[in-house]
Amino acid sequence: MKRRKFLATATAAVGLPLLTTNQSNAQLESLSPMSPANSHFDAIVLGVGSMGSATVWQLAQRGHRVLGIEQFDISHDQGSHAGQSRIIRQSYFEHPDYVPLLQRSYSNLAAFEKETGAKIFHKAGVLYFGKRGNELTAGVEKSANIYKLPIQKPGHQEAARQFPSFAIPADFDIIFEPDAGFMTPERTILTYTEEAIRLGATIQTKESVQSWKQEGNLIRVITDKGEYTADKLIITAGGWAPHLIPQLKQELTVTKQMIMWVNPKSWKPFAYGNFPCWIMEDPERGSYYGFPIVPTKEFGGPLGLKLAHHQHGEVTDARNVNRAVTPGTEEDLMSILRKYIPEAVGSILSLKSCLYTNSKDQNFIIDYLPGSDKRVTIATGFSGHGFKFVPVVGEILADLAMKGKTELPIGFLGINRIK
Ligand SMILES: Cc1cc2nc3c(=O)[nH]c(=O)nc-3n(C[C@H](O)[C@H](O)[C@H](O)COP(=O)(O)OP(=O)(O)OC[C@H]3O[C@@H](n4cnc5c(N)ncnc54)[C@H](O)[C@@H]3O)c2cc1C
Repeated sequence: MKRRKFLATATAAVGLPLLTTNQSNAQLESLSPMSPANSHFDAIVLGVGSMGSATVWQLAQRGHRVLGIEQFDISHDQGSHAGQSRIIRQSYFEHPDYVPLLQRSYSNLAAFEKETGAKIFHKAGVLYFGKRGNELTAGVEKSANIYKLPIQKPGHQEAARQFPSFAIPADFDIIFEPDAGFMTPERTILTYTEEAIRLGATIQTKESVQSWKQEGNLIRVITDKGEYTADKLIITAGGWAPHLIPQLKQELTVTKQMIMWVNPKSWKPFAYGNFPCWIMEDPERGSYYGFPIVPTKEFGGPLGLKLAHHQHGEVTDARNVNRAVTPGTEEDLMSILRKYIPEAVGSILSLKSCLYTNSKDQNFIIDYLPGSDKRVTIATGFSGHGFKFVPVVGEILADLAMKGKTELPIGFLGINRIK
C-alpha cells in the first residue's frame, strides 16, 4: 500500500486527522506498516479497549517500542466499554482493598487530563441506597471509614430535599459520596490511544489476533494479517480473553448486559448538575444503577436517562453475541424507576447490550501468566466494575511487563487465588 494511503487508513481507523508532511518523521514512522525493521517490539498489547489503551499509552510514554493490536476500531460497541458513561467512585463497597488502587486511578486520571486537556471525569456524586442492613451501603461505609473518605449520610428528610427525584423507602439506608461521578469511556480510550500514537506507539486496527506462543525469550503473535514478535505480551482482551488465555477458559464467564435510556416527561430534574449517579440494592431483585442525563452535543448519544441492572445477564461468547434485547429488560428496568424514581418514567429511547467478563469471585485477575517467566501479563475478569480502574491498570500492566514488578497493592488480584 502506498505510504500516504496507508496513513489515511490508519489514522481514520483511530479517529485522528491525517498527518501532514510537516509533522515529524518519528510520528510517521510510528504509523508505518509492518516491515522486517519494525515487526519486533518491546511489548505487544493484545486488545486496545479500556485497559489496553491506557497500557499502550503508559508504555509509549516510558519510551518503549509498543504495538497495540485491536480487532475493531479504537472504541467500538462490541466489547465492554460502549454506552457513554461509567461510574467512578472510591468508597468501594466491593472490597476496601480496591481503595488504594482507586486513589491512584483518580490521581493518574487528573494528571492525564491536565497533560492532554481532555475532560474525562465528570463529578456528579453517587447516591447509594438499600434496605437497612444491606451489603451495598454497609460496604460503602466500611471502605469510607477505613480510608477516611468523605461520605454523607443524609436522613430521609434531608435526602428528600437534596435529591427530590428519588422515592426512597423509610426503612432504607442512604449514603452520598460527593467526590464520585462518571467517566466517558469512548473518550478515555480514544484519548489514551491518540496520545500513545503521538508518543510513537504503533496501533493496528481491524486486525485480529488468531494465536500467540512463547518461544523461549520471544513472544510470537499471529494475526489475520501477519505476524509480530515481542519481548513481552500483555493480554487485555476483555470478553475474548477465554479464547486467548486457555488456562482461564473455565474461570471466566462472559455475560450480555442490557442498558436502557428513557425519556422522562421533564428532563431538567434529571440533567447533569441537578441529578447524581446512583446505585441501589433492591431487596428482591438486586443491584441497579443509573446516571444523570448528559447533553449529547458534549457527550454524544444515546439520548436520555440511562439505567441498568447489575445482575449478570445471559451467558454468551464474545465471538458470537446475540444482540437482541433480552426479554423482560424493559419491564425490569421500568419497574425500578416506578418504584424509586417515579418522575423518570417515560418512553424508551434506546436499549443496548454490552459484555461483562466475570471471574468466579467477581474480583479482577491481574498477574503474570503462570509458566511464562513474566513474559506474558494478563488483565481480565473485570466483572462489570473495571472501567474506573483504567488509569491505574495501565500503570500496573506497564510496570509488570517492563519492570518485572509493581509497587501498587495488587496481591489480592493474583491468579494464584483461583489456580
Ligand atoms: C453495561 C456495562 C456497564 C458498566 N458500568 C461500569 C461502571 O459504571 N463503572 C465501572 O468502573 N465499570 C463498569 N463496567 C465495566 C467496564 O466497562 C469493564 O470492566 C471494562 O470496560 C473492561 O475493559 P477491557 O479492557 O477488559 O474490555 P474492552 O474494553 O472490551 O477491551 C478489550 C478489547 O480487546 C479487543 N480484542 C479482543 N480479542 C482480540 C483479538 N483476538 N485481536 C485483537 N483485539 C482483540 C476487543 O475488540 C476490545 O476492544 C460496565 C460494563 C458494562 C458492560
